[in-house]
Amino acid sequence: MGGLLMNDRATWLRGPGAECSVKPPVVAKAYRLVLLGAPGVGKGTQAQLLSQHLHACHLSTGDVFRAAKAASEAASAKSGKLTPAMNVAVACMKAGRLVPDATVVEMVQERVGCLKCGGGFILDGFPRTVVQAEKLERLLQENGLQLDGVLDLVMPVEQIVSRLSGRRTCVECKAVYHVTGRPPKVEGVCDACGQELMQRVDDKPEAIKIRMAAYERSTAPLTAFYKVRNLLLPVDATGTPEDIFAQALGRLKAARQ
Ligand code: AMP
Repeated sequence: MGGLLMNDRATWLRGPGAECSVKPPVVAKAYRLVLLGAPGVGKGTQAQLLSQHLHACHLSTGDVFRAAKAASEAASAKSGKLTPAMNVAVACMKAGRLVPDATVVEMVQERVGCLKCGGGFILDGFPRTVVQAEKLERLLQENGLQLDGVLDLVMPVEQIVSRLSGRRTCVECKAVYHVTGRPPKVEGVCDACGQELMQRVDDKPEAIKIRMAAYERSTAPLTAFYKVRNLLLPVDATGTPEDIFAQALGRLKAARQ
């Protein structure tokens, strides 16, 4: 699997029945990374930049749930229905709540081929709980793989909330913009593919509050989980996307020496 611009992430987004249109690039040593950080710190942007640079596929669990929701809506006039588990996942996502661990884990397990991919991966939004992190650790071990690092993007809460409310995402290629911080060339239109930009339902104010609380309760403990495993690489996420990216690359290089 290649980077976002080179790859349609078909297998990840639609499940193991779908084949990626681009074969994984041949890389000397693929990167296998996790991106941690509260919603709105810019994980998606950094995942895209890292994916383009390292040629590892950007694997976002949130994108899988949004793709399932969009597919079910597109097919709703016909027989297209989501599985009961996916229905629960979509309802949780809309409300800003975490999807149950069992559902997320099953979804990732089905896509283990993406974790084994020769191009490597950048996990974004998974794991989000200690249960998920333990499961990922076992899944990688069973397949003779290990993480190279866990980049933890750190930012004060007030800044996160203002960022989330201005975020816009491309309906087609999922590129991420911000109305003031990273505006597209033409308002409401994606620079990369020309499709419409939209505000995610879970970026509405009520959902943001619930997501931040869920993060503090469930995801923040993951920093300790990875710290004891000597994998945690903290990155100050308050600068420009380019600054943050440079810092992240520096951290990765240092960790590989
Ligand atoms: P994200 O795009 O990563 O912010 O994810 C959007 C939404 O999808 C989250 O607010 C959750 O409802 C759901 N979600 C995505 N990944 C996970 C996960 N690993 N565990 C639980 N819920 C998740």
